[in-house]
Amino acid sequence: MPLLNLESVQGRYTPSTGTLEYPPLRGDLQRLQQSITYKTISQDPRMLDTTAFDGFGKFLRASYPDLFATLTVDTFSTHTYFLHWPSPSPEAKNYLFIAHQDVVPVDQKSLGQWHNPPFSGAFEGASGDSEGAEIGYIYGRGTLDDKSSLMALMETLESLAFQHFQPAHNLYFCLGQDEEIGGQAGAALVAEHCHQTGLSFEAILDEGGIISTGSIPGLKQTPVALIGTAEKGYLSVEVSFNIAGGHSSMPNSQTAITQSAGFINDLSEGLFEPQFSQPLNGFIDHLAPEMPWTLKTVFANRFLTEPLLLSLYQKSHTGRALTNNTAVVTIMASGIKDNVVPASARVVCNTRILPGTAPEDVLARYQALAAEYGGTVEAYQDMGSAATNTSSTESEDFMKLGQAVKEIFPEALVSPYLTIGGTDSKNFEGLSKNIYRFLPMTLSPEEVGGIHGTNERIDLEEYRKMVRWYTTLVQLWSEGEFPSDS
Ligand SMILES: [Zn+2]
Repeated sequence: MPLLNLESVQGRYTPSTGTLEYPPLRGDLQRLQQSITYKTISQDPRMLDTTAFDGFGKFLRASYPDLFATLTVDTFSTHTYFLHWPSPSPEAKNYLFIAHQDVVPVDQKSLGQWHNPPFSGAFEGASGDSEGAEIGYIYGRGTLDDKSSLMALMETLESLAFQHFQPAHNLYFCLGQDEEIGGQAGAALVAEHCHQTGLSFEAILDEGGIISTGSIPGLKQTPVALIGTAEKGYLSVEVSFNIAGGHSSMPNSQTAITQSAGFINDLSEGLFEPQFSQPLNGFIDHLAPEMPWTLKTVFANRFLTEPLLLSLYQKSHTGRALTNNTAVVTIMASGIKDNVVPASARVVCNTRILPGTAPEDVLARYQALAAEYGGTVEAYQDMGSAATNTSSTESEDFMKLGQAVKEIFPEALVSPYLTIGGTDSKNFEGLSKNIYRFLPMTLSPEEVGGIHGTNERIDLEEYRKMVRWYTTLVQLWSEGEFPSDS
């Protein structure tokens, strides 16, 4: 059988036209630092820290006067802002950018491990180059997820508005307040409003992928911009085992606990066989041609080597997450007294669903497995959600995303990807065919650990690239122009 050849597709993302402008920023470091000091924590919807969110909203308005003089702002829920930069053209398309104001809490036990307090926005570095531009890191919760993205968008809009930029298409921005707890009292309400008013979008950009270094086998030295074209679904189930209990002095060999243990043990083998879904196929098409020839050959002959490839993916937790309907026990409960064999055991499991699998199929697999141990299964709380649709990598808007990447990060490869966690963009499913999930920041696997973890921090130079990247993309997507006398 002849070896198939794989051709690079990276050439389609040639950098943009060179007509883009990057106005100089003043005080961007201080504004990012201050944004971190607002404790806009999402933990429980009933415990919203109104003072922190009020303060953050006021801070945004005070910091970006030209932005707020140019764009209209609608408030949803209590603190979710939906901004609109109108186009004068009746034929204009609509574009939406999403970022969230809230952050996850900091584990109090981890405080000692932080180099700087998590809500300090402390800067560690020096006023480096000849022009006095600072070099170093800003510390704090939200520097990676997701205030840097929100603030970089604000910096972009302020500088464009200041220069009287005029977008040819309508630009919308959704700044949610509760992404970290599902977005139901934030982005979901904005999405609901869009459904009701018939407002749909040519393309949407939210957080999701990053520019990853050192994490992709065969491309350890190359940064790769991973643009999420779909997001996994979600289902939790509750499994119950009921067997007559009794006195612990004369136990039966099978108890509710041994049955649940058998089930849990089997579950660790997986509910389904691993598989490549559509976003992963796109990932392989984009990256395999860039790999060393041995790996390239394996990928080029995928119809033969797929089992081998899938087994390679099972070796890391990321690889498994990308190729499986993952299944893990997250809650278990049984027993009331040390000398009583309990009559019931209860286990809650969580599955993140691949594109192409329905939540009903997942539930059925749980039921079949539990039945082998006499267990019964019900959906936990609700029937969860399927994975989102997979957005095209052939659209003009995806090309422009790739072009913006090559413009600001010329050494990076561009690739579609499957977003494993949830984002606010899932609420906008059905409102655009082109929903992409990407943060323009370069992170090593180690740095990714700062997201929701300890010592979350951002390199100031990376942050400034983020601003330039959004400035590029806003100009490319909106096809706008600057007034000729500016
Ligand atoms: Zn986030």
